[in-house]
Amino acid sequence: MTTPTPIAITEESHALHGYIWSPQTGWQPHVMPYLPHEDSCDDLLARHGYAKALWNPSASMLSPGLFEVWMNREATFPYCLFLALPDDSSEVIWLASTPDYLDFLAKYGNPGLLTSVHGELEWLREIIEKLFQAWHGHGTTAYCRECDPRAWERRQEHLRQKRQSGK
Ligand SMILES: [Zn+2]
Repeated sequence: MTTPTPIAITEESHALHGYIWSPQTGWQPHVMPYLPHEDSCDDLLARHGYAKALWNPSASMLSPGLFEVWMNREATFPYCLFLALPDDSSEVIWLASTPDYLDFLAKYGNPGLLTSVHGELEWLREIIEKLFQAWHGHGTTAYCRECDPRAWERRQEHLRQKRQSGK
């Protein structure tokens, strides 16, 4: 793999800078110019016929390692991926075909998938904890006679022994 050449971003370079990736050629800088009135990449991509195809609907923003995928099957590069970076910015990656997309995911997709799964589980855990609190009036780890009678019994036994031993 060749190291991608850094791109100098100047004031007048009103363009979306990114990379084309392919398993054969690796990373190559790619620039897509904005029209003067376009100030978001959404405008630019829409003008080129791209539509947002995939993102994480439960997340208000992309976590680092996740991809937002835009697609236009008619375009030279049908896949446009926004990779979320740790500093809240993103990097644009263009892919020329579905095999390239699959190769890319196989090679670079895992951190994003893990982040995504982790995020989903965190989200579910939060919801379950809230529901539990609302339904039962206590947290998920509390000793409760109703929802965890065995743990509650063990706790009572423990407390009895503690009292007897006078500690
Ligand atoms: Zn309970």
